Amino acid sequence: MGCIFCKIINREIPSKVVYEDERIIAFEDINPQAPYHILLVPKKHLATLLEISEEDKELIGHLFLIANQIAKDKGIAEKGFRVIVNCNEEGGQKIFHLHFHLLGGRRLSDAMG
Ligand code: AMP
Ligand code: ZN
Repeated sequence: MGCIFCKIINREIPSKVVYEDERIIAFEDINPQAPYHILLVPKKHLATLLEISEEDKELIGHLFLIANQIAKDKGIAEKGFRVIVNCNEEGGQKIFHLHFHLLGGRRLSDAMG
């Protein structure tokens, strides 16, 4: 099917991968909103955050542990960073394969939208 993040996972389109294991992939956002803007993506195709279920609890916990690890590796953990999920249209979601934005490397605004 035409999911762009499934295509990135399957290496049908290129990306700058910063981390990968059997459950998730993390790559640089093509239109970065901060000096560090990395997308963490479960390989399982879930369209939105609303699709996670009991069986995904370990997967989502794992993803946050890797987000922490990437923030530490990039040297932004101590200063601070942000992890965001946009869900559905009013939440600003554009790509309907669940992903977590990791943003850091500058002072992020206090506004929540
Ligand atoms: P969202 O609005 O939460 O759905 O975020 C989608 C994100 O995917 C945006 O930040 C885009 O810049 C990013 N994006 C779209 N296409 C690509 C791509 N081919 N490689 C990397 N990031 C992408
Ligand atoms: Zn997908």
